[in-house]
Parts: sequence; C-alpha cells; structure tokens
Amino acid sequence: MIYLDNAATTQMDTIVIDYMHDLMHKHYGNPSSIHAYGRQARVIVEDARTKISSLLNVSPSEIFFTSGGTEGINTIVNGVLCKDEITKVITSPTEHFAMLSSINHYAKLYNVDICMLSVDEEGNIDMNKLDAELQNCDGKALVSLMHANNEIGTLLSMKKVGEICEKYQALFLSDTVQTIGKFNNDFNAGYPHFAIGSAHKFHGPKGVGFIYIKGEQKVDPLFIGSQERNMRAGTENIFAIAAMAMAMEIIYESMPANAIKYNILKSYLIDRIESEVNGVSFNGPKIGLPNLVNIAVPKIQNNEMLLMKFDISGVMISGGSACSSGALKDSHVMEAIGKADKYRAIRLAMSKYTTKADLDIFVDVLKKSI
Ligand code: PLP
Repeated sequence: MIYLDNAATTQMDTIVIDYMHDLMHKHYGNPSSIHAYGRQARVIVEDARTKISSLLNVSPSEIFFTSGGTEGINTIVNGVLCKDEITKVITSPTEHFAMLSSINHYAKLYNVDICMLSVDEEGNIDMNKLDAELQNCDGKALVSLMHANNEIGTLLSMKKVGEICEKYQALFLSDTVQTIGKFNNDFNAGYPHFAIGSAHKFHGPKGVGFIYIKGEQKVDPLFIGSQERNMRAGTENIFAIAAMAMAMEIIYESMPANAIKYNILKSYLIDRIESEVNGVSFNGPKIGLPNLVNIAVPKIQNNEMLLMKFDISGVMISGGSACSSGALKDSHVMEAIGKADKYRAIRLAMSKYTTKADLDIFVDVLKKSI
C-alpha cells in the first residue's frame, strides 16, 4: 500500500509512539493535582509548552493546548466574535471547512457580517481588495486567511496580510495547520494574532493541537473551567501533548532535509506527469506547499471513479474534499477557483516517508486510470 494523503493526516513517528507509550506506563497523575504524581504530569505539560513556544519563537504563555485544529479554530472564532468590538469577519471561500463552518456559525450567533474575498485561479486573494474592505471597518474586523491551502497548496504572504491588518488595526487569524513543520513560522514577527496547530499533520498523534494567542489579545474560552489558565477546560491529555511537542521538535530538525527532498520529488513528479500523461494539468500555484501536488483531470463520463481506481491499486490519495462511494465530489476549493465544472482534482501529498518509488507507482496508476 502506498500512502500519499499526508495533507489529510500523517503516519506517527515510531520514536513518538514509543515515547508516548512509555509516558503512559510511567505517568498517570493529573497535572492539576498538587501531589508528586500531579507535579510530574504538570512538568510534562509545561515542558511541551516550552518546546513548542521556542520553535515558534513566542512565549510559553501564548500557547494553549486543544484537541486539534477544529477545536482551535472554533475557540478563536468564537472567542473573538463574541466580543462587541468585532463587527465583520473577512475571509476567503478556500478556507478549510472547519473555518468556514465556524465563521458561518459564530457570525450568525453574534450578528457579525461576513465578507468573502474572491480568489484567482490559483487560489490567491487580492491584497488590494483586502485593504479596501478594511478601510470601512474602523478597526473592528477579524481577518481569517489560511497560511497554506490544504487542497491546492496556495501560500499566503502572512507578512503582507499582517501589515495590511496592522494599518487598520484589524485582528489576523491564520490557519497554520498545513504549514507547522514545513516552514519556520516566526509568530514573534508581529503577525498573526492567532494561529492554529494540529499534531497529526506532522507525525504526531490525532486529537491534540495548540492555539497561539498573541500576548495582549483576550479571547473568551469555548470550554469553561480552570485548565489552560481558564482558556481550555478539561484534564490535559499529557501523553498526546508531550508526543506532539516531540513530533514538532523532530519535524523542525528535519525541516531543511525535508525541504530538499520535497523539492526533488515534486519536480520529478511534475516532469513525469507533464511528459507522460496526456491531457492533465495542475490546480494551484507552481510554488505552493512543497509536499503537495494537485492534478486537474478533465471531467469525462468514464472517470467518475478515479479515486476508487487508485484505491483498488493500493495507492491512497484524495480528491481534496470529503468523498463518498469512491466518486470524486466537487470540492469547494475547486469551485472557488472556477475549475469544478471542467476538472476533477487528484491531491497527492507527500511526507518525509515518501519515496521516488511511491511516485513512480502513482504515475503508473494515473496513466492507467484516466
Ligand atoms: N485546517 C486545515 C487547513 C486542515 O487541513 C485541517 C485538517 O484537515 C484542519 C484545519 C482541522 O484539523 P483537525 O483535523 O486537527 O481538526
């Protein structure tokens, strides 16, 4: 079996599994307890916070643990919109469904307007339009734009958006779920105000993540209670939190080597597809997420079951959106970039474990399937 769906989730690192397993044997204290076992558990949680914050160049007090990306998004969107100060959310139609659903839900709940910026064929927003929208907001806007798109790999200049937001004193939330461990994000640069991480995207366990909340920002919690300095109630999952920090350290150490590897493999894959597979093109920009390639296959009647054919051949890829019965469903991202009517999308996302041989098999199956 060949796994090329690493934008959906990644295989856990063996060392991380072993470490988590070992912790489970040795530490079962509740970090809120004051006795020795509780204190040991507290040290594990705080060590993890220190490791993650130092990788992101922020203060440990700016990191809060969650159950993953979706919870992080809900927490920030709810926690910001529930305040009277915000009257408008500016976002884009290519955001992850977790973000779009949260924005729709909480904006309706708190009577906040939504402004959807349009995107071009590669998924980029128009910075001038963002600037123009913010001119009418009087510092009362939340701008939510993802760092990298999980389907077509479009990258956002956080610097440009951060500067525009600063000019109008708007708040900036960036969904960084796909870029933690792929780029050396330095949140201390002044932007964004809020960011999101999810461990299962960088070879850590599922069901654990973190949010970054810039020092001076105040966000109301989603779960009410005392843990995580009143920001996220519930006994901390110390094993998953510690494993996430370890996975993040490992992915940061291997980031330069992974970048070289992705560059070589991505060029190789694109060259092979361009020279050997007729009639296909690519979705998203040429320079985007380094591990991701999204192939546009013209829609014809007999290629509805394209994904299923890959699955039968033992190659796991995705259409980039939720799919049922093996048929490719149109993705909201393909719709937003205006390509859903004519093309099906095949998203291939590599990880540090992907090999050239995996890509060769993928190309062979692609050639046979379309
Ligand atoms: N945001 C993006 C860009 C994602 O790719 C994902 C996961 O697919 C999420 C948010 C949600 O993260 P989680 O699976 O940890 O809830």
